[in-house]
Amino acid sequence: MEFEARCERSGHLTFGRSILKDSPEKTDALLESGKEHYLPNYAPAPMVLDHGKGARLWDTQGKEYVDLGAGISVTALGHGDEELVGILAEQGARLWHVSNLYFSEPAIRLAEELCAATFAERVFFCNSGAEANEAAGFHGRTLATVTATAQPKYHQGFEPLPGGFRYADYNDMDALEAEIGDRTCAVLVEPIQGEGGVVPAAPGFLAQIARCCRRHQALLIFDEVQSGLGRSGRFFAHQWEEGVVPDVVTIAKSMAGGLPMGAMLVGPEAADTLQPGSHGSTFGGNPVAAAVARAVLRRVRSKELIANVERQGERLRARLLALHNESGMIEEVRGKGLMLGAVLRKEWAGRAGELVDHCRRHGVLVLQAGPDVLRFLPPLNILDEELDEGMDRVAAALAEAAAEAAADTPADSAAVR
Ligand SMILES: *Cc1c(COP(=O)(O)O)cnc(C)c1O
Repeated sequence: MEFEARCERSGHLTFGRSILKDSPEKTDALLESGKEHYLPNYAPAPMVLDHGKGARLWDTQGKEYVDLGAGISVTALGHGDEELVGILAEQGARLWHVSNLYFSEPAIRLAEELCAATFAERVFFCNSGAEANEAAGFHGRTLATVTATAQPKYHQGFEPLPGGFRYADYNDMDALEAEIGDRTCAVLVEPIQGEGGVVPAAPGFLAQIARCCRRHQALLIFDEVQSGLGRSGRFFAHQWEEGVVPDVVTIAKSMAGGLPMGAMLVGPEAADTLQPGSHGSTFGGNPVAAAVARAVLRRVRSKELIANVERQGERLRARLLALHNESGMIEEVRGKGLMLGAVLRKEWAGRAGELVDHCRRHGVLVLQAGPDVLRFLPPLNILDEELDEGMDRVAAALAEAAAEAAADTPADSAAVR
């Protein structure tokens, strides 16, 4: 309410409706300037986002979007959450940076709470998933993370890469066993692959990796940057597998609800590595991010939120399965909780990006995971009506794409298909 009043005073917006939108000329000028002044490493969609509430966003033209991507699994509690905004303002006014030369209470409390809630004995704070993975036993600040990813597209142009990494196909235990030996120091694995196409670990896979690591005295590291903190319907996605205890878990993305923050959580086996001076991060454990993260942690561990992830995850899955039947575009729905992927059928393989654009034009933001998978990572506290509205728009977008494709296809070749 207070925020709404402030927005109205600024003469710009209210939640739910833009009362004054920018002129199309101003938006076009912003887009032009962004293209001209950013390095061309991203390909942002041609709109300028302006404000959000819950699972809805509005651009500078007043167009509304249902946000089913949550800034790539980051805004787990949606946009403009009153509690988080309040904490941000309060901590910002009190103290917002001191560096790791000094202690501050929010980060100490957060570390305490993370250790109490998990297997961890110690925590290293940083600002991103790459940094958290980098800290997980590697050196340098990000090149090792690029190397740790098996996908060659992330390696290209960055050679020479640090040595010593081996890769094995996901969910192929024989391949993994062949790579692990007594000289293996650690195995790093995502319990549900995110960018790799939303692929959950097959039942038994993580337990087998854990046994193999114990046998060879290798550390077991789970990358839960995307899958952790309630996203899968468990606090950590690896908890879907009974009795697997990692040595290290990396988290980031949703950790501070949208502020940059990451962490490496470390169990007893490795808790005393990284002695003074061996590693660091100037912003790591920033008081503002830490204060907000404490509230996020409390909320994502609550029964209510986990129940919502389970229920909305089922509803989303049901909508995607219905689309599978209606549109004929989807071959398989996979993932867990509110981390779901819709795998496109052969005829649509390679066209996920195009479908994401269709969805955006229909007022719903979804993601892709590679060229063949539509990825859904909505806020964990999404409401029924937000999810329903979003999926109605996805259905309309896919129907339009299918109709366009049918119109482009000569009748005889359509008959062949
Ligand atoms: C996003 C992501 C990362 C990298 O995180 P950044 O914050 O972009 O550095 C690492 N691992 C996984 C599984 C991710 O999803």
